[in-house]
Amino acid sequence: MIEIKDLTKVYHSNAGDVKALDSVSLRVRKGEIYGIIGFSGAGKSTLIRCVNMLEKPTSGSIKVNSQEMTELSETQLRSSRQKIGMIFQHFNLLSSRTVFENIAFPLEISGVNNQEIQAKVTKLLDLVGLADKANAYPSQLSGGQKQRVGIARALANDPIVLLCDEATSALDPATTSSILELLKDINRQLDLTILMITHEMKVISEICDSVAVIEKGKIIEEGLVIDVFTQPQHPTTRRFVQTIINTDVPEKIKQRLLQKDEGQIIRISFIGDSTDEPVISTLAKQYDVDVNILYGNIDQIQDTPFGMLIIECLGPKVNCEKAVEYLRRQGLRIEVLKNVQ
Ligand code: ADP
Repeated sequence: MIEIKDLTKVYHSNAGDVKALDSVSLRVRKGEIYGIIGFSGAGKSTLIRCVNMLEKPTSGSIKVNSQEMTELSETQLRSSRQKIGMIFQHFNLLSSRTVFENIAFPLEISGVNNQEIQAKVTKLLDLVGLADKANAYPSQLSGGQKQRVGIARALANDPIVLLCDEATSALDPATTSSILELLKDINRQLDLTILMITHEMKVISEICDSVAVIEKGKIIEEGLVIDVFTQPQHPTTRRFVQTIINTDVPEKIKQRLLQKDEGQIIRISFIGDSTDEPVISTLAKQYDVDVNILYGNIDQIQDTPFGMLIIECLGPKVNCEKAVEYLRRQGLRIEVLKNVQ
């Protein structure tokens, strides 16, 4: 649905040139929620604003629904933009207009008649749960309610793509979750493709299907959220993952490794319901080793559980090695943290 190829954007300023995007390529499939995460200054806003040409790229190609955006005239662009909805961190509502009138605004610009506007806005108010706020002004709304108006307004012209520019950054955690849930509902109900930028890994883990990590204008890692979360490759990605999941070996266990002179300490990682077997008790029974559970955590990304367990396996060396082989055969990711005897 969105295909970006070799996108580069250089800003020229008195202080010199800034390469905000450096040969960025990515592909967002129809109906998916795609998140782009990066620290401040990484190039996220520039990237999302290039998709609807609010920012003109220096070079490269951007296709939305197979249409090359960089070649459109201003008139063509105006009509194309009606099919690309956008929501913003600070909502960008018109303060002198009611909730109803804010949502009606893009429809008025598109020349839709009053009767249709009435029907459409009423439907959208229902969709975002604000039917009772039609006549309120933005100043009378909470942050979450304002963003709901922003979402309804962005959906007014039945877009094929929704761009979310740090849409929950100004909201508290509970409101963030409710807005993310609404976006997920809309994505499912309308089969709407969503591209979002954020600096919060929580946003990615709660609703995104795919994720790209951007740093200094380059995509440094990209893939399905579950893969990137469970096996982050780049140190920056690891830092982001670490903000919500602790994948490090705890300090207490590192100390234990240093002092250890027998047996093995094993880290077992798993994704999904990877085994039906009671692996730990099988280890003890079949391989005649003692198993001591040192540390464990289980998390869930959307519906997929994943986690890790650190165990200590004590017994004759050959038994411990056989036990490790057994674990590997169960389709688990196994790392022997230290192996001395
Ligand atoms: P992010 O959204 O990840 O915080 P931005 O896309 O806003 O990053 O910025 C990327 C880089 O481009 C930063 O170094 C920023 O200072 C620079 N930049 C952004 N907009 C402009 C501009 N209009 N003029 C000059 N430099 C800019």
